[in-house]
Amino acid sequence: MSEQSFKALVLRQEDEKTQAAIESLTDADLPEGDVLVAVEYSDLNYKDAMAVTGAGPIVRTWPMVPGIDLAGAVVESNSDDYAPGDKVVLTGWGVGERYWGGYAQRQRVKSEWLVPLPEGLDTRTAMVIGTAGFTAMLCVQRLEDAGLTPADGPVLVTGASGGVGSVAIAILAHLGYEVAALTTSTDEDLHAYLRELGASEIVPAPDADAKPKPLAKGRWAGAVDTVGSKVLAHVLSEMAYGGRVAACGLAAGPDLPATVMPFILRNVSLLGVDSVVCPIEPRQRAWQRLVKDLPEAALEAITDTATLEQVPERAADMMANRTRGRILVDVG
Ligand code: NDP
Repeated sequence: MSEQSFKALVLRQEDEKTQAAIESLTDADLPEGDVLVAVEYSDLNYKDAMAVTGAGPIVRTWPMVPGIDLAGAVVESNSDDYAPGDKVVLTGWGVGERYWGGYAQRQRVKSEWLVPLPEGLDTRTAMVIGTAGFTAMLCVQRLEDAGLTPADGPVLVTGASGGVGSVAIAILAHLGYEVAALTTSTDEDLHAYLRELGASEIVPAPDADAKPKPLAKGRWAGAVDTVGSKVLAHVLSEMAYGGRVAACGLAAGPDLPATVMPFILRNVSLLGVDSVVCPIEPRQRAWQRLVKDLPEAALEAITDTATLEQVPERAADMMANRTRGRILVDVG
């Protein structure tokens, strides 16, 4: 065990407020686990932004090293599945919520949470993808498993400029789908970014004060919704007959002010998507597919990089909807 110190972003609760600070730790400070990882990269997801800013009840134990994702190299292992030097990826499993996560230069974790770094990916790319990109692929798989094909018609992606949204657009366009991007933004540069990723149409988000209609003109064969609340209700009302919606997010809220009309009159399916305790088979299938179905150019276009020190500021930006695409965290 090394007594050498390393950097971590640590959250503490003071007067019921979340305080984030860079601290110096040693291996002796790390939690129990059978694999010690030298973390090379992490990333910033919506859930991380909620944890670091204290905007949502994400953190379950204090103090907490947040970061729901990490990628790096195994340093020590008591597991038969991993040996020192192996490159690994971890997303979800309550890491960064209940268990210490990726915003540290070293972390000790359970081997069953790890996935060997898929061939064709490096640790940096794995974290550009991260939970958000992985979830985007799970949404695509969920739609495909429900029978959706490019021939069925256009697919709508909501929260289009966000991490999940950006990756979903790139994957769907690469697979030959006609993709429409629903965004709250009126910024022309952002619209150009969405078109570059593969969107052929930009759809303005519905007025936040308007009550969603039970049914509207059926436009979409499929949808990936990252926003929830009235936006998801609006999307459901616009699904074409037999349309499938993969719902993974709550950027506008966890409620769903919809009616059953799209389900009982248009045979619409609402498909839930979870990335946290997603079983190993779809988990590995999604990572394999990300290697081939997410073009390199799209990855570079969506990537912004932050240091550990910059995480609190970028988290606040994300909560205020001032970020786009993916934020890679270089913990080095
Ligand atoms: P981001 O913050 O990167 O993206 C969210 C996007 O939603 C924003 O970029 C914005 O897009 C849009 N948005 C934000 N606020 C509002 C609002 N009030 N009304 C309408 N649109 C809004 O987050 P991620 O992409 O990382 O995550 C997206 C969602 O998916 C989150 O709710 C997250 O918790 C969830 N998630 C769920 C997972 C699961 O396992 N089920 C895994 C990963 C993420 P624009 O500016 O284009 O409108």
